[in-house]
Amino acid sequence: MGAPSANSNGLGNDINKTSGWTPDSWRSKPIKQCPDYPDLQAVKKATSELQRLPPIVHPHEINKLKEHLKDVAQGNAFLLQGGDCAELFDYCRQDAIESKIKLLLQMSLVLIWGADKRVVRIGRMAGQYAKPRSSPFETVDGKQVPSFRGDILNGFALDERKLDPQRLVNHSAATLNYIRAAIAAGIADLHRPLNWGLGHVKDPELKAKYSEAVRFLTDMLRFMRTIGADKSDKLDTVDLYTSHEGLLLEYEQGLTRLMENPMYSGDDTEKKMEYYDTSAHFIWIGDRTRQIDHAHIEFFRGIANPIGIKVGPTTPVADLLELLRTLNPDCEPGKITLITRYGASKVKELLPSHIRAVESSEYKRCVIWQCDPMHGNTRSTETGIKTRRFNDIFSELQETLRIHNEEGSYLGGVHLELTGDAVTECTGGSEGLDDDDLSTNYTSFCDPRLNEKQALELTFLVADHFRQ
Ligand code: PEP
Ligand code: MN
Repeated sequence: MGAPSANSNGLGNDINKTSGWTPDSWRSKPIKQCPDYPDLQAVKKATSELQRLPPIVHPHEINKLKEHLKDVAQGNAFLLQGGDCAELFDYCRQDAIESKIKLLLQMSLVLIWGADKRVVRIGRMAGQYAKPRSSPFETVDGKQVPSFRGDILNGFALDERKLDPQRLVNHSAATLNYIRAAIAAGIADLHRPLNWGLGHVKDPELKAKYSEAVRFLTDMLRFMRTIGADKSDKLDTVDLYTSHEGLLLEYEQGLTRLMENPMYSGDDTEKKMEYYDTSAHFIWIGDRTRQIDHAHIEFFRGIANPIGIKVGPTTPVADLLELLRTLNPDCEPGKITLITRYGASKVKELLPSHIRAVESSEYKRCVIWQCDPMHGNTRSTETGIKTRRFNDIFSELQETLRIHNEEGSYLGGVHLELTGDAVTECTGGSEGLDDDDLSTNYTSFCDPRLNEKQALELTFLVADHFRQ
């Protein structure tokens, strides 16, 4: 890379494209879900600490993910994204991290078998600590207390509900460090037999189908071991990228850096400098913070990372194109993932018009359509437990696949809340959990997650769709 050219200020062209943008220009816009920190001095101290820390992820990795996502947008790869609804600092533990990596790997093998495409994996991990809430307060035992807003803002324990800015300096780097170490050491390698544990599947037809897939995958892995193909660099390790909702802009700004795009191959006398949000590879905008003229969109329009946007029943068709034109004015394929989450009962009515608006515009085959079948299907049991029915989740996913087929667009991915642990948070699936079983092992501090068996089962169902 040579010296920066004089006529571009050494900053390349991209900086100018986002006119009027600075890492803190979001501060002059109206904002939703904003924490009302009582001690602004403490916030300043914590954010300057963040600014001094090295980036958590590197632009090289972010750009590599962007290349993969381009393939997804063009229909040549599939995106699997999953993890906790609310990641806790306490999940920064070897077992919790390993079980999630293993589950995502196992699911991706099933998808490769089913879709016959490369699978791009992104965990909701190493930073998924901030949660939007419908109200800043909740009632616990008859008393009004501040809501739990995710570990980066406050603690779940009632005596930790006060917002604490020191939580901005958190466990994401340690979590990502172990993800990288475990992958480099071969946790995700294909040398070890996987435990598919299908004993719970009672339906003989379903069981036969899953067993066929597992037999195929096991044979394939054995064959690769035999011929030594598993020793090649490509197969020894896997890529696992990180993501979270970019809700807390103090945090995102604190980790945003002007850095050189290491993959830029233009005129070699010119560097391409871009702003990277180094808190994660992929960051998404939540359903409650995607107002066009508000702070979150302002912040996101200036960063080079790939971006997700949650799209739901409250997204007007007209907003979609405006969002795309603001966040991806150059129509970079794969830059934006539209994460659709309508609910099983609404998807049929709402998804087709969203698809048509985008696919008949300059963004045709440019966005990634990803289905989040979780967030439109949350319900409360009679005793007030937050849960989701496996059948609703599956039905939204199945309808979404069908509608994309019908509209000639490509469903490029799924976005799931899941855990590698044997939790009982969603009902249904082959284990046949019902409302009364939920209390057996309900450990989520926010939304209900699919357990390992339910997550695998859903993956088999998606794989099956692609094979038909
Ligand atoms: C989430 O993904 O945990 C979430 C809050 O989703 P949404 O913004 O779609 O409601
Ligand atoms: Mn959630």
